This record gives sequence, structure tokens and C-alpha cells, in this order.
Amino acid sequence: MSTAAKRCDVLIIGGGLAGASLTCALEGSGLSIEIIEAFPLNTDTQPCYDDRTVALSYGSRIIFEAMGLWRDMAGRIEPIKTIHISDRGHLGVTRLRHHEEGVEALGYVAENRVLGEVLYQRLKANPEVLLHCPAEVQDLQQQEDSVLLRYSENGEQHELTADLVIVADGVTSKTREMLQIGISRQDYRQSAVITNVTPGQPHQNVAYERFTDTGPLAFLPLTENRCSVVWTVPSEQAAELAALDDEVFLEKLQQRFGFRLGCLKKVGKRHVYPLALVEATQVVRGRVVIMGNAAHAIHPVAGQGFNLALRDIALLAELLVSASFEHLDETLATYEQMREQDARRVYRFTDALVKIFSNDFAPLAHARAAGLLATDLIPFVKHRLARQSMGLSGRLSRLGRGLAMVKPNV
Ligand SMILES: Cc1cc2nc3c(=O)[nH]c(=O)nc-3n(C[C@H](O)[C@H](O)[C@H](O)COP(=O)(O)OP(=O)(O)OC[C@H]3O[C@@H](n4cnc5c(N)ncnc54)[C@H](O)[C@@H]3O)c2cc1C
Repeated sequence: MSTAAKRCDVLIIGGGLAGASLTCALEGSGLSIEIIEAFPLNTDTQPCYDDRTVALSYGSRIIFEAMGLWRDMAGRIEPIKTIHISDRGHLGVTRLRHHEEGVEALGYVAENRVLGEVLYQRLKANPEVLLHCPAEVQDLQQQEDSVLLRYSENGEQHELTADLVIVADGVTSKTREMLQIGISRQDYRQSAVITNVTPGQPHQNVAYERFTDTGPLAFLPLTENRCSVVWTVPSEQAAELAALDDEVFLEKLQQRFGFRLGCLKKVGKRHVYPLALVEATQVVRGRVVIMGNAAHAIHPVAGQGFNLALRDIALLAELLVSASFEHLDETLATYEQMREQDARRVYRFTDALVKIFSNDFAPLAHARAAGLLATDLIPFVKHRLARQSMGLSGRLSRLGRGLAMVKPNV
């Protein structure tokens, strides 16, 4: 056990997209920040920074812009100019277009690897941040106004006291378990097969969301005229589908998607993710905040998971910077109360999409075809759907409105 008793203001457990983004959002706050991450922070070896992609909403762009990170991402990610929503085998299409919403793009598609590189470069250059990696939490205890933590790094045991602990170690969070914070879990019995393909025709920055009788299929525009594919299938079919050789896989994908992008030419490695709505029963307990996938893991159908996490991060960073650390308990209570509504809205929206569009009961199929058509024809409904997809509905934090954070007495 190392002898010196160490202390920091904020300890972040997990340096994935959520943990790293929060660290960057707190840059310049004057708070001492430490991160405990299980894997080496190197985008070649970090499992959550592989070739997977995330569809960033326009609202997330505004947050990254206000954090000063957007210029490093912008040239390496692909804008979504149109979202095309259809139902395989049924009439009815909705198209959301960037110019109708008065924005440069409705969203952006980024490879996790690219986001990881930008976030890591930034946090490594920040002298207020101390990284423990690879390191692992052994035990943590809530104290009256802090958390005492034991962790191992390089085979040695250490102790650290933090005023605030952020738990961002992913959907299977061990730290959440150590704290005995429960989860509610709704298993969709679906898995997402993820891959990148090269289509025969230019994608023209259109994102296709196609609902099929086995689950939604998304083609998202990527750099170099590639598309990021998220193909949702019943879980029992996923492993077999992902293991097909490239040619057969492309044939099946083409059958499902159709020829809107011409003949699909090339396909990358496949990854399978079982899908469930997993929600922590508590996101604030004492001096601990649960963040990112550890707080809520959502079906990727509407690409909302990380975008929701980033809105949580933006508000928490704002409150921590603007409020005094002496009133941390009130600050955390405010955070919890202010973020509840957005999370509920995203759960409802995503859950409804999965259930309505994964059901081939004939009257429901007709109703959703009519719904898609109506959405396309009624500007108000369409605008609301676009605002929700863009992460611009509800109350927004300062970063969410593109404003820099304000420190007291500055
Ligand atoms: C198929 C799929 C597609 C998706 N598409 C989208 C999309 O288009 N748009 C969108 O907004 N969201 C999307 N998401 C959601 C998005 O991927 C997640 O919201 C995001 O990755 C969550 O990041 P995180 O940092 O919370 O968790 P993770 O990425 O899981 O990171 C957790 C981190 O904690 C570390 N860790 C784990 N255990 C420990 C430990 N014991 N101690 C210390 N560190 C630990 C891990 O190494 C990792 O670095 C998608 C998700 C899936 C599954």
C-alpha cells in the first residue's frame, strides 16, 4: 500500500467516451481531476475506441464546439444532411432535411477511434488531470463529504479520497455494483450487427433508417463514401449473420436494404452487441454520480445514447464550475432533478420506435405507414421529430447553447 494519503476534487472511473468527455468539459475549471481506467489509453488497444461509429446530434456538435474540440473533429467526420425513414414492405416515408431546420447538418457520423484520439490528446495535455491507467478500483466507501477509494495500479495498492466520484465504467459497471446501485433492464431480445460498407453510389450524406420485420436497419454516411451499418436482428440470428463470409453477408444486407445506394461493394469487420434498455435505479448517491452507459444504455435505433450522456456531462460540468464545491450536495440534487426529464423523453422515444417498428401486426403496420406519411406532410410534427433527433428539445445547458462556462468571481 502506498503511504501518502492522496486527495482530489473529482475522480472519474472509466475513460471511455463519457469519462473522457467530462474530463475535457471540466478543463480550466481549476478542479483537480484524476481518472482510473482499466485499459491503456491508446486508441489501438482501447476496446471502446475501435472502428465503431457514433451518430452525433447537432446538439452534440454545439457542445463540442463550446468545449473547443469541434475544430479537431470536424474534418474527420461526416455530416448527415438528410434523414430518410422508411418501413420495408410498406408505403410511407419521412425525410428530414437540414435546410428545413436551418442548420448545416442534422448530425454527424464519427468513428469512435477519431473521437477517442481527439479527447485523449486534449486530456493528456491538461495539467489538472492525472491518469491512472491501466488501473482498477478495488473498493470505495462513501464518507460524510467525500469518497474513499482503494485501487490497484502496476501491481500496487493505493488509496485516494475524492470530493466527487463519477462512475463511467460502462453498461456492466463494476463500480455501480460495488455501490449496490441496482439496474432495471428491459431486454429487447435483439442484437445489433455493426459494420462498415462501401456502396456502389455516393451516399450524398443521407442517413437511412429502415424499419424491417426483424428490426431496424440503419445506413449512416461515413467519410470516404463508406456507410456505417447498424443492423438489428433477433439475438439468436446475430452471431451466425456476423460470421457469414463477406460476399454472402453483402447479399443478405442488399436484400434487406434494397438498391437505394446501388450495389454494395465492400464490407468491413462485423461486431455484435446485444440490445437492452439498462437504467441505473439511482444516478446520484451521496458524492457519487453515475454517468454514460453506466447510468443508461439505450437501444441504438435513434442514435441517442452518447448524445444523451453528453447533455448530462454538459450540465454537470456547468453546475460544478459555476457552483461552489462547498454546496456540492445541493449541486448534485439540482443536476439529478434537471436531467431526469430529458432521460425519460429519450427512453420513451427510443422504446416506442423499437416496439412500433419491430411489429408486423397488420393494423399496426398500416398505422405506422400512415404515421410516416403524416410526419412527412405535417411540418410541425416533422420539425418536432427533427428537434428531438438533433438533441435540441427541452432545456439546454450553457454548453448545449454553445456558451462558454462561467466561473464565479471571474
Ligand atoms: C451498437 C451501438 C451503436 C450505438 N450508436 C450510437 C449512436 O449512433 N449515437 C449515440 O449517441 N450513441 C450510440 N451508442 C451508444 C454509445 O456507444 C454509448 O453511449 C457510449 O459508448 C457510452 O460510453 P461510456 O463511456 O459510458 O461507456 P464505455 O464506452 O463502455 O466506456 C467505459 C470505459 O470504462 C472502462 N472501464 C470498464 N470497467 C472499468 C473498471 N472496473 N475500472 C476502470 N475503468 C473501467 C472501459 O475500459 C472503458 O474505457 C451506440 C451503442 C451501441 C451498442
